[in-house]
Amino acid sequence: MSLPSDCLFCRFVSGELHTEIVGQNQRAIAFRDINPQAPLHVLVIPREHFADVAALAAADPESLADLVGLAQEVAMDEADGEYRLIFNSGPAAGQSVFHVHGHVIGGTRLGWSPA
Ligand code: AMP
Ligand code: ZN
Repeated sequence: MSLPSDCLFCRFVSGELHTEIVGQNQRAIAFRDINPQAPLHVLVIPREHFADVAALAAADPESLADLVGLAQEVAMDEADGEYRLIFNSGPAAGQSVFHVHGHVIGGTRLGWSPA
């Protein structure tokens, strides 16, 4: 697991690096994915560093609830509240950044072929 000081997404939270924040609440922020896979592709992350969604759920369930609430808010604003929320967990599942993030995907009719 990367240390928070090495973590790209921790740097977005601290403001050390700039990203376009599209929503936030007490425990989470939302920003646009740099390589969007759909008309709506936003990442929601907790302000605190956890490697994956299971670690977040175990340590801080309220933060996970804030994360899901923020995903819903962004999707209400940008995709009529219809969206997919994806947490890749582990490299084989496609996780490349080890600060937990939910992909909020929508804005079009989505296909279903993850494998
Ligand atoms: P995952 O592969 O599930 O770990 O997702 C990581 C996501 O972070 C990918 O969809 C990347 O496109 C996205 N990403 C990587 N670097 C940045 C960045 N600098 N700003 C916004 N999104 C990024
Ligand atoms: Zn981090």
